[in-house]
Amino acid sequence: MSSKRLRGVVREIGLEREEGRFHSFRIRVGVVLKMEGAMNYEEGERLVKRLRRELLGREVELEALIYRCPLCGRGFNSEMGLKVHMKRSHKETNP
Ligand SMILES: [Zn+2]
Repeated sequence: MSSKRLRGVVREIGLEREEGRFHSFRIRVGVVLKMEGAMNYEEGERLVKRLRRELLGREVELEALIYRCPLCGRGFNSEMGLKVHMKRSHKETNP
């Protein structure tokens, strides 16, 4: 049994009614996966098929990641946010 780690950004959180149970609701979370580089339609389709086979019906655990600055400890929601901060706040002062 292997556990794969997928990274993504939560883009949607919604409430949905459970099938056949009018007063019963659950939470739906939509995650957009982070991929290395761009892919075309065919590559996307292939990956979607694979992920459907591997993930649909599986239990997953969600955990929010915080990107911490190694110099001052500030936390950021994304790698990009941390990069921008590093550039702006910790620019090298050497000539
Ligand atoms: Zn910092």
